[in-house]
Amino acid sequence: MAASLRLRRAASGLRYWSHRQRPAAASFAAVVSRSMASKTPVGFIGLGNMGNPMAKNLMKHGYPLVIYDVFPDACKEFQEAGEQVVSSPADVAEKADRIITMLPTSINSLEAYTGANGILKKVKKGSLLIDSSTIDPAVSKELAKEVEKMGAVFMDAPVSGGVGAARSGNLTFMVGGAEDEFAAAKELLGCMGSNVVYCGAVGTGQAAKICNNMLLAISMIGTAETMNLGIRLGLDPKLLAKILNMSSGRCWSSDTYNPVPGVMDGVPSANNYQGGFGTTLMAKDLGLAQDSATSTKSPIFLGSLAHQIFRMMCAKGYSKKDFSAVFQFLREEENF
Ligand code: NAD
Repeated sequence: MAASLRLRRAASGLRYWSHRQRPAAASFAAVVSRSMASKTPVGFIGLGNMGNPMAKNLMKHGYPLVIYDVFPDACKEFQEAGEQVVSSPADVAEKADRIITMLPTSINSLEAYTGANGILKKVKKGSLLIDSSTIDPAVSKELAKEVEKMGAVFMDAPVSGGVGAARSGNLTFMVGGAEDEFAAAKELLGCMGSNVVYCGAVGTGQAAKICNNMLLAISMIGTAETMNLGIRLGLDPKLLAKILNMSSGRCWSSDTYNPVPGVMDGVPSANNYQGGFGTTLMAKDLGLAQDSATSTKSPIFLGSLAHQIFRMMCAKGYSKKDFSAVFQFLREEENF
């Protein structure tokens, strides 16, 4: 982080401290300030499939929340639970100096940060802004620059694990940003995830996430094709899943998030593919992988094909269903 930013933050009276920044002479005061600060309100913007359970885990750890979502109904249960609901991202920034955003796309993150009533309009110096949305790494870098101009700190921290892991507090966070801010970010992210991994400079969290999701998309399509073929060959789907999961074909899509209705409980395939990770979001992540592959001249034959399959699903009415509905999509192509 630029020395000038550190100075500005020191001059303005930091609202939180990371270990390497604590001035030795003020160490006792800093520790007291840090522990008191640790339960000051945390801002949360975007209370959708993921944001909702993530915010609830912060509440379970004793953090009061200041929340905002463009869809007011998403805030209702938090309001009923006594949390503060405000009417714009700027208002969140006015009331909280640590903010987590969990939004669908790059455009939504840009809007929440730089829009007419965005976070940057009222952000306080020294604030820690963590974007857990999966977005274009170039946009994360752009946001980091704008945030730094305001004397605050930006980190990208996209997640893996799905809604189940969000509920149980077992997400994996991939964190990009200044290393000396990582401890401060981990204090919050550790309430929502069991793995919080530092990846490098701003944007590297997104890079790791995009790579993971390209592999996930490919393996989900592979699992759906495999299960469909096995069923057509006369195998019982539960038995086939059991065999795959004790064999070399096993993967997350087969053993934790099986796409075939009736094989597992508590996953979107058991609930008409409602909730979970939307097909539109998977198509969006594969678009990010496609862009990254073009700019780095990396061959992604299967990643590109997966992108086309999920785009086709969106065009055929699957956009609001979980991405594991690729199994249903294949079944509907049965006269192929
Ligand atoms: P979602 O669509 O369920 O929720 C997003 C929420 O953000 C909605 O409530 C929406 O109203 C709100 N929103 C949109 N624009 C806003 C704005 N400008 N200001 C305030 N609120 C706004 O999405 P999700 O499934 O929770 O996913 C969020 C992010 O996490 C995405 O980037 C996604 O790729 C990523 N992700 C999702 C999963 C999953 O399993 N769902 C897993 C890993 C990562």
